[in-house]
Amino acid sequence: MPELPEVEVTRRSVAPRLEGSIVRAVRVGAALRWPLGVEPQSLVGLRVGTLQRRGKYIWLPLLDAGTGAPQGGLLLHLGMSGSLALLEQAHAPTKHEHFDLATDAGTLRLTDPRRFGAVVWSPALDAGMAARLLARLGCEPFDPALTAARLREGFSRRSVPIKTALLAGDIVVGAGNIYACEALYEAGIDPRTPANTLSLARCEKLLQALRRILGRALELGGSTLRDFRDAHGMSGAFQHEAGVYGREGQDCRRCGTPVQRLVQAQRSTFFCPRCQRR
Ligand SMILES: [Zn+2]
Repeated sequence: MPELPEVEVTRRSVAPRLEGSIVRAVRVGAALRWPLGVEPQSLVGLRVGTLQRRGKYIWLPLLDAGTGAPQGGLLLHLGMSGSLALLEQAHAPTKHEHFDLATDAGTLRLTDPRRFGAVVWSPALDAGMAARLLARLGCEPFDPALTAARLREGFSRRSVPIKTALLAGDIVVGAGNIYACEALYEAGIDPRTPANTLSLARCEKLLQALRRILGRALELGGSTLRDFRDAHGMSGAFQHEAGVYGREGQDCRRCGTPVQRLVQAQRSTFFCPRCQRR
């Protein structure tokens, strides 16, 4: 599943060419998670503004090509299996290619075999469908306004295990399964620890660890996601250097104790029973 780093790398890869381009055509293929919500033809002639990412969503604002006045925008999500590519020469779409935004700078194409992804029009990022979809998202992990104190305050109302509270994404976004496991390992926190018992010092460690892990994933993404079509290539590369993720029964790289796996909220958690404490 594409996680925050993959989405951010995708945004960075397509933004420089796409921004400022003019929409020439919009093609909607098989139904995605939600309908587009606007007449595709009405987007033709608009100019693409500055692409933003919020959580795992990419916001593609559209502007009047003449005046630059905001004309809503498209909120894109890659779902379980989606990827976006900006094609210079768009070939005829194949059966898993469900959306095209053709511009004078190339065609932004969504490939999504499982079709849990979405392209939704919204009048603004903070209105309509976009506002509804983004309402429950937690802080951005790299936002300077996110401090250990704020993290602790968010966790203080949760008695669920810290791993589950991280995955929920409503306190901080970006800690998908692999990154949540790795951040807790780095921070030496047992994934079963009730979220509301985490001290300020441990919240600080966790925040630093999460930023380090996501920063590293972004770095790897830049080098491995060469054509920006294989959103899974990156987590694959990241997994090669994972401390615990996917390493059940193998020795912890720090202490040699076999890594254990357990299931929390229907997801596999990997951890070192010795390095990670409650
Ligand atoms: Zn260990």
